[in-house]
Amino acid sequence: MTQQLLDGVRRFRTAAYPPRKERFEALASGQSPNTLFVTCSDSRIDPSLITQTEPGELFVIRNAGNLIPACGVESSGGEAATLEYAVVVLGVKDIVVCGHSHCGAMAALLAPDTLDALPEVRSWLGHAESTLEKVRAAGEGADAVRLNVVAQLENLRSYPFVREREERGELALHGWVYVFERGDILALGRDGAFAPLLSGTSSPGVQV
Ligand SMILES: [Zn+2]
Repeated sequence: MTQQLLDGVRRFRTAAYPPRKERFEALASGQSPNTLFVTCSDSRIDPSLITQTEPGELFVIRNAGNLIPACGVESSGGEAATLEYAVVVLGVKDIVVCGHSHCGAMAALLAPDTLDALPEVRSWLGHAESTLEKVRAAGEGADAVRLNVVAQLENLRSYPFVREREERGELALHGWVYVFERGDILALGRDGAFAPLLSGTSSPGVQV
C-alpha cells in the first residue's frame, strides 16, 4: 500500500474523524440519504466534494461512463439492484446522473477499435448503445457526454418504480455534466439544453 494512503488514513483518524464522531455514531442507527448520485468511476470526480455533502447524505452508484442498464436487460450488474434499493427502500427524493468532461468511457464508445484488448469494457459499454444512437442522429459536433446523460435518464425511467414515483411527484431526475477542469456544473433543462446549474457561478465560455 502506498505511503500516501497510510498517511491519509492517519490524518482521517486524527483530524477528520474526531469532529464528526457524534454524526458517525448516529449514522450507525441507519441512513436516510435524499439523493442517489450516479456518476463515472473517473478519479477526477469527487461527488461529496462537488456537492459539499457529508457521509450519510449521498447514495452513490459509480461505474465507467455513469451507465444505468435499461430495465430487464441481462447482465445489468449491481446497478439495477442498487437503484432499486435506493428508490424503494431508502426513498431517495432525487436522482442525479452526472457525466463529466474528458470521459474516457465516452471516448471509447466513439472509438470501439480501442477496445480490442478490453472485452469487459466493450461489453459494459453495450449499455450505452442508445447513447451511440443519439450521437449518430445528432451528426457532426455531437456531444457524447451530454447525450449519454440524456440516454441514462431514459434508462432510469424504464424502471417502473422510478417512472411511477416521478409521475407522482415523489422523485425528481436530474442530468448534470461536471466540467472538472473549470469546477463547473451544467444541468439539463426542460428545453433539452445544458446550462450552468447556478447562474453566475460558471466560467465564461464553458464547454465540455
Ligand atoms: Zn468517465
